[in-house]
Amino acid sequence: MECFYIGIDDTDSPDGMCTTFLASTILNEFERNDIEIIAYPRLIRLNPFARFKTRGNGGVSFKLDLDQNIDLAKEIVLKYVSELSMFDCDNTNPGVVFYQGQITEEMIDYAFKAIYSIITIEEAEEFANHIGAEIYKFKKGRGIIGSIAAISCPLEDYTYELLAYRHPSRYGTLRNIDYDSVVKMDKKTYPETFENIDAKYLAIEPKTPCPVLYGIRSNSPEVLLKAKDIVIPNEEIVDSCIFKTNQHTDMHIQNANSISELKQYSCYKIKGLVKESPHIIEGGHMFFTLYDETGEIEAAAYEPTKDFRKIVEKLRADDEIVLYGGIGEQNTFNIEKFQVIKLNEFVYRNPICECGKRMTSAGKGKGFKCKSCGKRIDSDEKIAEKVERTLENGKFYETPVSARRHLAKPLVRMGF
Ligand code: ATP
Repeated sequence: MECFYIGIDDTDSPDGMCTTFLASTILNEFERNDIEIIAYPRLIRLNPFARFKTRGNGGVSFKLDLDQNIDLAKEIVLKYVSELSMFDCDNTNPGVVFYQGQITEEMIDYAFKAIYSIITIEEAEEFANHIGAEIYKFKKGRGIIGSIAAISCPLEDYTYELLAYRHPSRYGTLRNIDYDSVVKMDKKTYPETFENIDAKYLAIEPKTPCPVLYGIRSNSPEVLLKAKDIVIPNEEIVDSCIFKTNQHTDMHIQNANSISELKQYSCYKIKGLVKESPHIIEGGHMFFTLYDETGEIEAAAYEPTKDFRKIVEKLRADDEIVLYGGIGEQNTFNIEKFQVIKLNEFVYRNPICECGKRMTSAGKGKGFKCKSCGKRIDSDEKIAEKVERTLENGKFYETPVSARRHLAKPLVRMGF
């Protein structure tokens, strides 16, 4: 069906604003002017490694029937983007895209490209012209890259997020959401809502000076309304909005068949063998090498992943695992989660002598000797000894909520 689509991106900066808040403000103005959108506004997360992102690399989009007052809708969108965007920030380069028609296969391909890889402003502009979309570039207009993707992205798997917005007089001040009420909300609505809390860390609360007081994530919009009723904000909520989103769907993860095909700034699911036990470096970052017959890559569980590192630390050489994550700035594979395929349950050691002591090598090709009683063995073959493993074959292990990416699918959504 032909519809009218609006995409908006790159309106905020680390000092303030949030494209979802701008979207919600526009929707309020639509309502005052009897303009209705179809279903929910969408919040689409794109490549987590895009260089100029402010935080979570998200663009928003709306869909309207053609019988709506499209000219007025366009006017409202452009007015609010011009008035509310954080133009003072060098890195804020808003882009608005209007598109009338159907979402085509090539538009879907474009959306996946924006999630999987890096797109230039020129490429996005060329593509917009090719599909007949109308673009509005503010400053450099980088936002058109994400705006086209936000319009075009298919949502086979999806979640919802309810965002509650603060009174402007509170922007930049400490948030004071009632902790116990969030615990209660989590108890009553989990696993239909998720990522609410992580020990003492309130995951629903952003730590930036943006207009968002909190964001609750769920599989269902109805449950979000119930959750909002339970959370005690301790300050005025001036507006709230539910977005349909690709958050927590693993949409950024591509299936890779071999390590040699992995590219920087992309995210994958990749099977391989652990080369050596993980080691930790100054700063608390943990690393190990993953290899297969085509190559190897350094995998990392960085310090912010906290206790996840204690799990990673249990990996041993020759464990077969599947890693989920992406290759960032440092060219290391940032682990989001992993599945153990087959643990290496044996360690190969020198034989134990009849006298009970561990034998030592007598030299290459000369077998083993016992330093205690002098006994010798001709064979060089080490003995396989079973070791106790605390990781489990088949099981998934994930980073804590506090260190999780917006796009990463939590195990609770994978049926675990
Ligand atoms: P927030 O999540 O707080 O709204 P953000 O992290 O989404 O902010 P933006 O301010 O929207 O950050 O900036 C991201 C910029 O990166 C936008 O200009 C967007 O068009 C662009 N972008 C998105 N995906 C890609 C991509 N795959 N390649 C290159 N640029 C991209």
